[in-house]
Amino acid sequence: AKSDGRNTIRFFDPHIQKIMEEKSSMLQQLRDAIDSEQFVLFYQPQVDANANVTGVEALIRLKATNGELISPMQFIPLCEESGLIIPLGDWVLKEAMAQVKYWQNDVEKSTWRVSINVSTKQFEREDFVETVQKTLASTQINPSLICLELTESLLIRDSAKALAKIRELKMLGVSLSVDDFGTGYSSLQYLKHLNVDELKIDQSFVRDFILNRSDALIVETIISIGKSFNMEVIAEGVETKEQFELLKEMECHYFQGYFFGKPAAFDAI
Ligand code: C2E
Ligand code: CA
Ligand code: CA
Ligand code: CA
Repeated sequence: AKSDGRNTIRFFDPHIQKIMEEKSSMLQQLRDAIDSEQFVLFYQPQVDANANVTGVEALIRLKATNGELISPMQFIPLCEESGLIIPLGDWVLKEAMAQVKYWQNDVEKSTWRVSINVSTKQFEREDFVETVQKTLASTQINPSLICLELTESLLIRDSAKALAKIRELKMLGVSLSVDDFGTGYSSLQYLKHLNVDELKIDQSFVRDFILNRSDALIVETIISIGKSFNMEVIAEGVETKEQFELLKEMECHYFQGYFFGKPAAFDAI
């Protein structure tokens, strides 16, 4: 980059220039998509040891103008980086809770708990708890039907503040889950103060744990941590019957993955 005058920096590397242009055009598309609500939540079943559905995880997709669905991996990082995750996260909360409300008229689905992914930036906002509380109040749903999935890194970053927020969220009556558990760096010291309901084993450990001894040890360890701290444990990325059977033997409580169902639109599950 070459400085040109006081405030402008021009990039003469055409490659970098192109990346920056693509990024800003992508950002503009995302802003437009938020304004016109071009997003959709898919729902993936979570089951118990009898393979009965107990809840679903809400997973966002972007509906492109050609009807194609774009994966969150392709836009969530940019939303986090740009702050767009705040309005988007608010939309997800509202939409997921509206879905829970809608399911209250369905005998089977009225007991389903919906898990909602919360990004670090969203959680760190001063008004996060208030936003959750207001959304709950406006939909009038039972808070126990909502589970917020928080990542480990979010819990470590500013632990005193995070723990205080977790207490407030628990007081609202929602459940809390630690997503991708085992991929961050929580210490056991820290866990004993952490008042969450559930640990979620990341799919990276579930993928090969049948053949890979260290992955199996990690899975077993997480299940035993859950037991010790009185937290439920759910495994994600369960793709085969063998994985399901072995996880049951290890006394994992809940299961999620393609073996039980892929994420699908609300009217398709
Ligand atoms: P995650 O929270 O770890 O979600 C699990 C991912 O694994 C999902 O990918 C899901 O579709 C996929 N998956 C489920 N079962 C299986 C399986 O059996 N095998 C394999 N290989 N994959 C499986 P997805 O939907 O593409 O979401 C990716 C990530 O995007 C999520 O990872 C989450 O971190 C983020 N994300 C999704 N929706 C939201 C949202 O509403 N808000 C925020 N902040 N992040 C979201
Ligand atoms: Ca998740
Ligand atoms: Ca995640
Ligand atoms: Ca994961």
